[in-house]
Amino acid sequence: MTHLPLSRRVASLAPSSTTAAARKAKALAASGVDVVDLSIGEPDFATPDFVRRAGIRAIEEGRTRYTDVAGEPALRDAIAEKYRREQGAETARENVIVTAGAKQAVFNVCQALFEEGDEIALFSPYWVSFPEMVRLTGARPVFVPTQLEGGWRATASALRQAETASLRGLIVNSPNNPTGSAVSGPALSAIADWCAERDAWLIYDETYDRFLYDGQTHASAAALRGRHERVVVTGAASKTFAMTGWRLGWAVGPPELVTAMASYQSHTTSNASSISQAAALEALTDLERSAASVAEMLSHYARRRRVMVEGLSAIPGVRCALPDGAFYAFADVSALYPRKRVAGSAAFCDKLLAEAHVAAVPGDAFGDDACVRFSFATRSERIREGIARFGAWADADAPALRR
Ligand code: PMP
Repeated sequence: MTHLPLSRRVASLAPSSTTAAARKAKALAASGVDVVDLSIGEPDFATPDFVRRAGIRAIEEGRTRYTDVAGEPALRDAIAEKYRREQGAETARENVIVTAGAKQAVFNVCQALFEEGDEIALFSPYWVSFPEMVRLTGARPVFVPTQLEGGWRATASALRQAETASLRGLIVNSPNNPTGSAVSGPALSAIADWCAERDAWLIYDETYDRFLYDGQTHASAAALRGRHERVVVTGAASKTFAMTGWRLGWAVGPPELVTAMASYQSHTTSNASSISQAAALEALTDLERSAASVAEMLSHYARRRRVMVEGLSAIPGVRCALPDGAFYAFADVSALYPRKRVAGSAAFCDKLLAEAHVAAVPGDAFGDDACVRFSFATRSERIREGIARFGAWADADAPALRR
């Protein structure tokens, strides 16, 4: 096979293993096998009816043209209002840009701020796309490990161990994909101070901000605005309102950054879909209905989380922390590697899928090869079935003594 002369930038990209895991699961299911898919990274709920209807209305009323590149003014206002209302943050329209999902928001922030020679700190485990987004700017990711034993907490003291000569920014995701760990208010404050002392940007991805358990509340970096200048928050309608396919997210930051991002976006994708913007506006302004929808989803996730974590923890050789938020359990399964004759998480997940018909995402995608990510954005019965299969499979080759 001849090699096409692709750009170095693209040729060195690592393909996303979260989508690869989902693809393998779908292919096996298509061949007639009953696969329990715990690799899914999106809500299994339908977009709430009142939001869907707002999208339909936008089509029927002909709101199907270009909008401002940075988004419809009313939607930018509604996003600014969300952070004012929930966080008491000093946000206005000029602090907000609407994007095609949180993914584009983080990507464009990186493009607007980072370049060759810069170092960008990332807590590990990290969301798969962060390192690639950093590398695509020419900058270098610097990984700061967090540990299962400490509940995967991201802390300023961990950052102090990081060796960075030309730090330009830090990207944090709370609640975290894949660990579910959330950063508390005091920890966030200390992290922001660490960044400020180094004139570094803090990019805070709050995609899962409405999904926290056991009455915990979300600490938003938007609340730091006014105290810290170099703070950017990214968020989305994707998970909160089960709108992953609508592609609607945003970034909130200083007006100069928002203007630069709009300029960048004006030459790439332009505005986010006008229809999706109309739907998201409804979701963000009909507070009564959106609160009811989110509460309903959260109560399901909370039950599923218990089923998942209790089930995983009961399997000998599997260790799992209780996630604070999001809908993932990140379990250390490395004690099972010798028995399953695998060297790492990718081979482990391949075997788990082929032999037990359970799909999960290898932890190496998130920077931790000892772990596997199990999503609980699926019905409790399926989670129970997946755990039962995983447990039986894990036990199958156990030493005779232990049985
Ligand atoms: N950030 C994190 C941490 C995520 O998990 C995801 C989605 N998996 C995104 C951003 C992207 O979300 P969106 O679909 O809104 O682009």
